Amino acid sequence: MEPNYAFARSMAKKVLKDYRLSEVPTDLSVIFKNLGLKYIELNDADDIDGAIIEIKGKPAIAVLNKAKPIQRQRFTLAHELGHIFLKHTRRDVYDSDEIRENSNNLISKTKPPQETEADIFASELLIPYEQLKKYTADINNIDKLANTFMVSKQAITIAIMNFWKHDGKKKTKS
Ligand SMILES: [Zn+2]
Repeated sequence: MEPNYAFARSMAKKVLKDYRLSEVPTDLSVIFKNLGLKYIELNDADDIDGAIIEIKGKPAIAVLNKAKPIQRQRFTLAHELGHIFLKHTRRDVYDSDEIRENSNNLISKTKPPQETEADIFASELLIPYEQLKKYTADINNIDKLANTFMVSKQAITIAIMNFWKHDGKKKTKS
């Protein structure tokens, strides 16, 4: 099975629209609350990374650990939201470390298609294409863009690469 990029991306767009999330950085807590998830912020370096915890097979609690790099936490949570919205069965709430490490490489042939789809969803949710368009003037300033969207430099770089691919040769003059 090949990952369905268009489906993953359009689902993220739908979520942004449905929850009226028209500003960046995307406020994930709005989505958690609308889904009826309890949202907990931790501040403990020894505790878990961001996760969505299931109770009786249903997503119940979203955890964000502020003691860990926030950009990574946000991507992890958005990725997990991807599994929920894309209705992936056998969702591994705590994605294995191996998969997590691989997720640095957004489009990898070695990972399950669901993982790639969840990453695509997360990327569009946190770095919406429509929003990225507004910041083309900053496209050479990865640090600034990463701050604007509150994502890692790696995530923003991948989004920009995809942006370029899809948006053709529209270059911005600096
Ligand atoms: Zn996953």
